[in-house]
Amino acid sequence: MNTLPSENLKHLQNFTVSSINLLASNPPKLIAGPLSAVFRSDSGFPELQFFLEPDGEHSLNFDLRTTQLFRLGELQSLCVSEGEGSETIKERAYSKGITIHFKEEGESSSFHGAFEQWKTEVVIQGSTLPNGTVLSSKSKFDDKIEASSAKMYFHYYGQLLHQQNMLQDYVRTGSYYAAVIENQADFEGRVVVDVGAGSGILSLFAAQAGAKHVYAVEASEMADYAQKLIAGNPILAQRITVIKGKVEDVELPEKADILISEPMGTLLVNERMLESYVIARDRFLVHNGKMFPTVGRIHMAPFSDEYLYVEIANKALFWQQQNYYGVDLTALHGTAFQGYFSQPVVDAFDPRLLVAPAVSHVINFTTVKEEDLYEINIPLKFTASVGTRIHGLACWFDVLFNGSTTQRWLTTAPGAPTTHWYQLRCVLSQPIYVMSGQEITGHLHMIAHSAQSYTINLTMSAKMWGPGAEQGGILQTSSCRLDLKEPYYRMSQPQAYTTTAQDQQQPNQLLQSQDLHLPSLDEDGSDFIQPPSNDSSVHIL
Ligand code: SAH
Repeated sequence: MNTLPSENLKHLQNFTVSSINLLASNPPKLIAGPLSAVFRSDSGFPELQFFLEPDGEHSLNFDLRTTQLFRLGELQSLCVSEGEGSETIKERAYSKGITIHFKEEGESSSFHGAFEQWKTEVVIQGSTLPNGTVLSSKSKFDDKIEASSAKMYFHYYGQLLHQQNMLQDYVRTGSYYAAVIENQADFEGRVVVDVGAGSGILSLFAAQAGAKHVYAVEASEMADYAQKLIAGNPILAQRITVIKGKVEDVELPEKADILISEPMGTLLVNERMLESYVIARDRFLVHNGKMFPTVGRIHMAPFSDEYLYVEIANKALFWQQQNYYGVDLTALHGTAFQGYFSQPVVDAFDPRLLVAPAVSHVINFTTVKEEDLYEINIPLKFTASVGTRIHGLACWFDVLFNGSTTQRWLTTAPGAPTTHWYQLRCVLSQPIYVMSGQEITGHLHMIAHSAQSYTINLTMSAKMWGPGAEQGGILQTSSCRLDLKEPYYRMSQPQAYTTTAQDQQQPNQLLQSQDLHLPSLDEDGSDFIQPPSNDSSVHIL
């Protein structure tokens, strides 16, 4: 039972004050601002921290358990602490006493409100309720996500290099910038929540577009860097509050008119952050508020790529050795073969590999329920444009910023400028043969798992042709199960997409050079590797 807002203590709340006066100095020393004042509890106890310089290097910290705040006037308050507190100014040890000067009365009262809230919660937190109930901090996020997965996930995003990687995806970041600036009317004078703020870049864009106030919610350690980055842009910083915590847990002082977020993973849904985006919508957004992005679409089409297929199958050849230092490895060949085909392939491919027009699955972020994202079942129906061997399903996504002024799409489609998401392909261990005009049906079934990703079950079927087809209804069906959490990043691999006869020989030669023993169907349930047939090369749609 969690009836008290103890989750608030997990986060970080930021204010700007005009100046502070260090009373213990002789004479008292005025530090002119604007200065950042941050309530935080990440060091294990609640603190109020004043950053004395814009670079955030020196700070003056008050342990809130022993600190009191008094109002001296509308714009002035006295902050005193009985204890030692944690002092990070090296040069001199202050006893605790400062006056705080605010620019406006509103700032002063919200600061006092926050102070009271943090102090009250401190007393309650860490204690046991009278009836013996121990306060629990389990949240909606913790209920469905394994702690070990969340730990790794937020550790990853806590590192600047990974934020830099996203910032350097100029298609991505440029699209967000354009969507915000083109739709300034949606931000001007509005309250914004940045859901998973990372480095804080989208909060800064929103502030540039004239937001009244932006709450930048970030669960990882990146929140501290975001704070620093934002403080380094003082004009915008006045209108941004960084809050360290999960959007599932933190409390905000007001509702938002618009949410901005970049919650998309590979195949749109990987990382399960869309669910957090939807939870943030339900918790923070006013009725009929805007969401940037507004809609997402997953696009899917069958592809033919003999090179990719052979490359994956070849990976398991290692296990065909019967004399590996005197050991026969073949017992594990079937398992290894299936293992390689259970990895979705992430790379940028040539759109000419697609052999039918794509189908789409739309997710409207403004209306979708969180639970709708636990299991996504997409029926597939295509008409082959060419006769070929189909090696699986190619997927990509796009999102729409439905601004009041301009609608902008951010796309990760093959053939469009490449993003850090690339595209994703599910490769069937048993390809399907189709004729031009033939119908391909199936399902892409995705089930969310507690490691912040999805298990994918893909089934693709086509009616047989040739002898027996006239008797009707004989389907070639091929299925595979993949873990979206374990992709094969193929970007560094050479990718030849020419269609010359010589190129088509290459995969075959590769196989022959490795003394191939093909697994029987019984061994691993898979088809064996066929040399590319004449109709299985690359086709131009
Ligand atoms: N908005 C930034 C970062 C996007 S990456 C940008 O566009 O550059 C997604 C970020 O969301 C990561 O930093 C991650 O730590 C954060 N995040 C993911 N789930 C979250 C949650 N439930 N609550 C708060 N932050 C979350």
